[in-house]
Amino acid sequence: MADLDVNVKPLPTPSKDSAPYWEGLQEHRLLMQRCSSCHELQFYPRSGCRSCGSTELAWEEMAGTGHVYTYTVIHRAPFAAFANDVPYVYAVVELDEGPRLVSTVETDELDSVDVDMPVRAVYDDVNDDVTLLRFEPA
Ligand SMILES: [Zn+2]
Repeated sequence: MADLDVNVKPLPTPSKDSAPYWEGLQEHRLLMQRCSSCHELQFYPRSGCRSCGSTELAWEEMAGTGHVYTYTVIHRAPFAAFANDVPYVYAVVELDEGPRLVSTVETDELDSVDVDMPVRAVYDDVNDDVTLLRFEPA
């Protein structure tokens, strides 16, 4: 990893395994890998199934809906680039299809966020090459 510039937010560097995930986000589609052998969904993207080891994985679009599994409110920016973002909600979201992922919940009403709150995906087009997945109250 390159040296961290505290004034710039880090962006993802897609790997061979994760590139379809990031390309899906650019199209405002949330894609996850499903094993063609045991049919388990998995996240994060990787070269083999975490359940059975098969390397036969297919990409499948998720509905983009789920709920807050757990969360915290970030009051102190992790570094300077996030200074204008605080306070913000950093959450583990469980999709209706099952996989959990870490993201932010975009809301001005921080006190309204709670465990089990329904959320839906929103797509943050950071630049021409990168779209990040976030969530908002559903
Ligand atoms: Zn499998």
